[in-house]
Amino acid sequence: MKGILRSLLTVIKNTFIRSITVLYPYDRIIIPYNSRGSIRLVVDLDTKEIICDGCGECVNACPLKLISVEKVSHDKKIKNFYVDISRCLFCGLCEEACKKDALKMNFNYELAERDFSALRHDIDKLTEYAKPKVKEFWKS
Ligand code: SF4
Ligand code: SF4
Repeated sequence: MKGILRSLLTVIKNTFIRSITVLYPYDRIIIPYNSRGSIRLVVDLDTKEIICDGCGECVNACPLKLISVEKVSHDKKIKNFYVDISRCLFCGLCEEACKKDALKMNFNYELAERDFSALRHDIDKLTEYAKPKVKEFWKS
């Protein structure tokens, strides 16, 4: 009897306390700025080019070797850049390793895909955020 009363009191008390959870996906919380979500390649807003020169520091820093860079030979430009997000630990070591601030972690946490291969993000996916046609998820 005591237990039932205690449970009842807890229910009544919690009815008047503001909820700290939301009914996702109908409601969304504002994610703190420095959260570690999806990885993106930084695009220079003036030249519209990515800053990455393919030095490979982030490739070496990733403990699971999830990053690979394809470079254009005899050039500083990169052809493609891949991150296998399916196994990513979101540790941020790749971001820390990049001295040029060319790779950043985003606060987008909605990374689910129906097709497993879509979790291998390529240069298009990693710069998608910078394309004006993409509606940012937190504004929807
Ligand atoms: S993202 Fe940074 S660390 Fe990684 S290859 Fe590009 S410039 Fe080098
Ligand atoms: S966040 Fe960590 S695990 Fe994920 S790609 Fe970067 S270094 Fe690798």
